[in-house]
Amino acid sequence: MFNSTRSLRAIASVCLAFSILLTACAEPSTTSTELVVPPPTTAPVDADVAPTTTPSQVEQAGPADIIFHNGILLTMEPSQPTAQAIAIKGEVIIGVGTDDEVIAMSGPETQIIDLHGQTVMPGFVDAHDHVFNDAAAQGLDLDQSQQQALENGITTLANMYTPPEFLDEMQAFERAGKLRIRTSLYLTYSGPCGDVLGDWYKDVAPTRNPGEMLRIGGIKVFTDGGVCGKYALSIEYPDGGYGDLWFAQDELNKIVADADGAGYQVVLHAIGDRAIESAMDAIESALDGGPNVLRHRIDHNSFARPDLLPRYSEIGIVPIAFGFFPTCQEVDTGIYSSTFAAELPWFENWRAFLDATPGLPVAWHSDWPYLPLNPFEHLYSYVTRQGVDDDGVICPPPAWLAAQRITVDEALSMMTINAAYALFRETEVGSLKAGKFADLLVLSADPRTVDPDDLIDIEVWMTMVGGNVEYRAAGHESLSPSTASSDGEPASITATASKSIPDSPPLNAVDGDSETIWSSGDDPPQWIQVDLGEPIAVSAIRLVLAQYPAGRTVHQIWGGREEDSLTLLEEFSGSTEDMGRVEFDPATPLADIRYVKIITTVSPSWVAWREIEVMGRE
Ligand SMILES: [Zn+2]
Repeated sequence: MFNSTRSLRAIASVCLAFSILLTACAEPSTTSTELVVPPPTTAPVDADVAPTTTPSQVEQAGPADIIFHNGILLTMEPSQPTAQAIAIKGEVIIGVGTDDEVIAMSGPETQIIDLHGQTVMPGFVDAHDHVFNDAAAQGLDLDQSQQQALENGITTLANMYTPPEFLDEMQAFERAGKLRIRTSLYLTYSGPCGDVLGDWYKDVAPTRNPGEMLRIGGIKVFTDGGVCGKYALSIEYPDGGYGDLWFAQDELNKIVADADGAGYQVVLHAIGDRAIESAMDAIESALDGGPNVLRHRIDHNSFARPDLLPRYSEIGIVPIAFGFFPTCQEVDTGIYSSTFAAELPWFENWRAFLDATPGLPVAWHSDWPYLPLNPFEHLYSYVTRQGVDDDGVICPPPAWLAAQRITVDEALSMMTINAAYALFRETEVGSLKAGKFADLLVLSADPRTVDPDDLIDIEVWMTMVGGNVEYRAAGHESLSPSTASSDGEPASITATASKSIPDSPPLNAVDGDSETIWSSGDDPPQWIQVDLGEPIAVSAIRLVLAQYPAGRTVHQIWGGREEDSLTLLEEFSGSTEDMGRVEFDPATPLADIRYVKIITTVSPSWVAWREIEVMGRE
């Protein structure tokens, strides 16, 4: 079942939430939610059957930890495409339905989040990228690169370039408890220039255990150029030649058959039509008429010649398709600016592709850093085939490209449940369904109803992985539960004040309960100071007033790492009333804050607070 380290970490991270009940932190739940997930599916890719998830069961229902309601949920489940509300307990979803149905799953300690009509969807699943192996080349460490992906709404990915030394690095990263995106590594059989690392991968077993954060997905083989050399095309390039095919057919057949025999899923990079055809032949030869149990894939598929399209379904190949198309560059100066283009009217022909492969789980990949990381740039491109140039001017697609538009629903399936299928994770993620992991996003707009031109502007306001909030956008904190992710032990939060009356101690202001107050029992100036236990990056501070009568107040928020050298972060001055809120939302998180001190200098009543919430992460 679940890796116990992971379960413990999930409990610890709930308790680092500085704004939730201290009692919850003092008494972390020792119950663990377990999924009963069936063994990895061995179902063949069946052209008549859309990829479906095998129903999972939740052993423990009971009150939800978190409920989102009053929203538009895009579930990616054909039987229940939309819903209003979702309930989460621990790492998993325990209910999806109407507001009434789901709110009935709440208990006294459930955090209930009103979405105010905002859209929620499953986290994006990126079937092929280089978020980890190319992090350093982008000037990022592994965690920074991971955070960037999380902020873009990617909650599951496949890292496609994994030579032996990088495998060690990723395994160490995971052992240190730092991996926060579900990641499948594809071991490098051969590199982008056809350089062969060989069958070293056979020392590293593929894994398909439900719930694992780091998985060995299979192997990756480059069949043609792209990064290095040219795509292998059947049409002669203007400057001569037909591009680079890295393996003779009998070699490639042997590579795929070998890996298939040893139980590895094989990912074949193929961009040009000659490479795609060669990859198809190799998979067909290895399967020898049998079903594609190991879900061998062809990735990129950019020049899928029309006569090749039916073969994806016939063989049962899982195809991975680019989203973003560089319309502005290509049409002006790229391959399509030349007469050569006229001979290739099937460049990224996704409409024809989907029409020729009904039911096949065609999946999306960003291929970052070669293409943008932001899934909404890909969605926009799939749906409009437009580009936007550096000055913000829209480049309309030429007719041949415009004919290849696909719908928002088709694209979203490719970017979630279909990509999860490509990674053997469709029983765990990729849709919103009871029993699956609570990997989900709150969006700024509903992609199904916005003008297609605006798809590119949709923002991720919250990213949750396994019930943990891994990202919340500044200014939209109220749309996410008040938990912060952490790798460490929960810090203990304490509070002190200039004075207090006996039954209203300072801790009442940090207990997550706005019914209980801290009261100084005296007129201003008075202060209260919260010690977070360790320095964190503060993304927001929210104060709930305890004040009678209403009237003008002035409050200063001070913060810093050392108690005796705090700096003034913000001063509020204005008319306030009891239960009112004062919020401080810095544009970027303020690093290294351990102490937060609120000094009230003007108030018509005794100085008191109902709640002081500090949002942030280590
Ligand atoms: Zn790639």
